[in-house]
Amino acid sequence: MGSCRCSSAWQRVRRGLAAGPVVLQSGPAALLHPSPSLTPYRPPAAAPAPAPASPSSRHLFSDPAETEALRRDLLAWYDRCKRDLPWRTRAATEPSADRRAYAVWVSEVMLQQTQVATVIDYYNRWMQEVNELWAGLGYYSRGKRLQEAARKVVSELAGQMPRTAEDLQKLLPGVGRYTAAAIASISYGQATGVVDGNVIRVLCRLRCIGADSSSPAVIDRLWDMANALVDRSRPGDFNQALMELGATVCVPKAPLCGECPVKQHCRARLRASTTPESGLKGLPCVGQGGLVDEPALIPVPSLQVEKELASASQKLLGKATPVPDVEDCGAGGCPLCPPAAEPWDSSLGVTNFPRKAAKKQPRAARAATCVLERRGCHRAPEYLIVQRPSSGLLAGLWEFPSLPLPQDLQEEKQREALAEHLQAWIGQPVVAAELQLIGEVVHIFSHIHQTYVVYSLSLDGDVTLDAASPPSRWVTEEEFHVSAVSTAMKKVLKACEKQQEKRSNPGQGSKRKRGAKAQGTGSTGPGTQLSLRAFLQPPTAP
Ligand code: SF4
Ligand code: ZN
Repeated sequence: MGSCRCSSAWQRVRRGLAAGPVVLQSGPAALLHPSPSLTPYRPPAAAPAPAPASPSSRHLFSDPAETEALRRDLLAWYDRCKRDLPWRTRAATEPSADRRAYAVWVSEVMLQQTQVATVIDYYNRWMQEVNELWAGLGYYSRGKRLQEAARKVVSELAGQMPRTAEDLQKLLPGVGRYTAAAIASISYGQATGVVDGNVIRVLCRLRCIGADSSSPAVIDRLWDMANALVDRSRPGDFNQALMELGATVCVPKAPLCGECPVKQHCRARLRASTTPESGLKGLPCVGQGGLVDEPALIPVPSLQVEKELASASQKLLGKATPVPDVEDCGAGGCPLCPPAAEPWDSSLGVTNFPRKAAKKQPRAARAATCVLERRGCHRAPEYLIVQRPSSGLLAGLWEFPSLPLPQDLQEEKQREALAEHLQAWIGQPVVAAELQLIGEVVHIFSHIHQTYVVYSLSLDGDVTLDAASPPSRWVTEEEFHVSAVSTAMKKVLKACEKQQEKRSNPGQGSKRKRGAKAQGTGSTGPGTQLSLRAFLQPPTAP
């Protein structure tokens, strides 16, 4: 865990800001105060659908006194130990609510899938210069959407940020449920919870939730829980504390349970301590604090022993003999317990939670692509790039003209199909036999295993692009690298250059890359990120 710093002046400012919270109008406050007329979770949308099974209180925060204690413990820890981050300071000191919300918004967008340490420098520079600093952070579309939404605030909302999570999500493009709730709770003090990857992990451990934590049903329940749990007077701090706990203490692989401020409320820790192997063998859940303030050890029931034996014999004999977990609510009925086929693994301790369903294998896809080259000014090579559709995979990015291919299409046929495709772009016949086969480039997207069959073709003379076609342009190599092209396309160009170099210098090692950039040109090299300005600039004339 990072250094623990106290900052009482800072806290005073924050407390002042947190005054006057907006209390969530609807939501699962019933979780905290169950009454016979209110069920803990949302009712099913359609009447004929069977009602989902309700989880037992084991998975809920149903004791108001415990909830209060948990809020208190977590906030006290946060006040003592929180990291000093620039967006927190800004959120606490900026007097204008709109600017405060904008500052939080930028930080939340930057933090999506990017580490805090990487974001700090970009954040500071962005807030100072508000321009082309997205380079290096990746996830281009985030930057673009942020700019679109900021424009909308200025042009359609008279410069005023929406004031509730609901309106933020409804009115600002690209602002999802999490970002809206983070902005509303941190900037405006709205008592609404947040759920991100860190919160999912912490809540699943606190309440032994072993059902697939990526399923919409479980995510919905976690949102209900976060809304119920959030501290009413310091919602922004509470949400940040919960996320901070996940980022620094309740980390994925080796949580520091001994140092955890809410360990006495943690059912996963209790669960781990009831298994003899776990607590006494120094599992991750037992930190420096040891077992001194552990909950009393509960005798291991005989069914548990039976389960361990069954699991051991399964390992030895390879036979699956699932035995219901005595610590779970009951075989099959509970929507939040682990599936019966995946019982508690005592060697994992608290890291049994959360669980995700196995990832689907990425889908295999093939495309033919052509590095089409012409001679531009001073005979320098220029390449044709075309823009992808504005939705779907790699939306709006630029690429070499490409054509999806069915699997197992013969080389001759794919060459013909590509020639026809290129003809449509450049408006003149392309002879299939003249396409040079470069080879295959593989790129793995999160859900697609994409193979590009790469060809190249050099055109003589000028080529006028069809103005009626979707956007396309000729770019020099330098321009290519600072354009909004995917990493896959950079690999394609690299492969093409390598091949051409081999052909022009047979027998020689590749010492110099054709078109290698001079120093100080200001452009980024292959594999590096794009400049935001390049992305937002209108395309240059063909
Ligand atoms: Fe996470 Fe351990 Fe704290 Fe439980 S006790 S919340 S598992 S760090
Ligand atoms: Zn259960």
